[in-house]
Amino acid sequence: MDHTILPNGWVLSVGADITTLKHNEKTLRKAHEEALVAARTDQLTGLPNRRHILDLLDEALVAAKATGSGLCVAVIDLDGFKAINDTHGHDVGDAALHHFASVCQARVRPQDDVGRTGGEEFLMLLPEVRLNAAVRIVDRVREAFPPASLRNGELELLYTFSAGVTEALPHDDRSSILYRADRALYAAKGEGRNCTRIGFEEVTRQGTPRYT
Ligand code: GH3
Ligand code: MG
Ligand code: MG
Repeated sequence: MDHTILPNGWVLSVGADITTLKHNEKTLRKAHEEALVAARTDQLTGLPNRRHILDLLDEALVAAKATGSGLCVAVIDLDGFKAINDTHGHDVGDAALHHFASVCQARVRPQDDVGRTGGEEFLMLLPEVRLNAAVRIVDRVREAFPPASLRNGELELLYTFSAGVTEALPHDDRSSILYRADRALYAAKGEGRNCTRIGFEEVTRQGTPRYT
């Protein structure tokens, strides 16, 4: 409201109704927030998408370094997923991905993050745990894994996953820790799938650190 004192002593008050303006501002802000969430979310599963979970990994590595409280990661890949698509169709494959995401999220701790890094691959961030506890968390997700009930209950789809788990080392960055976890996942696949393997730092004869 603007007030002006006129020469004759009267006060002229001019006001404008900005209700619509405020409403538009609120709508815009809401749309902006929704766009931000959408940009970080995997549409199929509702989990953090690749970019977001990798950003969270960077943050978790920084936090683990600062506090020394430990961080483990698990790289997870669903087993024989191509066969699921080939046998039952892509829509069943999609439903299985959604099912995995919800079972997984329900079974990890509240402080853990799970994201979809691509296709049938997921990344779990497990802060403040050492390796043994991290393996236990992943195996708790695996234990008596429920079948996905699909097509209005007509199809009970049982599937498995393999996992590679590793613990953050002081010099780790996103690439080095994922490399080690990927190698462990590869070992799990090679050893028959449906299991968890651990990625340790391997020191070669020359003393150069390598990642397994
Ligand atoms: P492995 O046990 O070695 O991991 O075998 P796999 O069949 O799971 O692995 P492969 O890499 O051969 O196949 C992955 C399949 O995942 C192929 C691809 O079509 C499918 N896929 C990737 N993204 C999606 C998706 O968003 N939806 C569906 N339905 N399938 C997907
Ligand atoms: Mg894969
Ligand atoms: Mg696979």
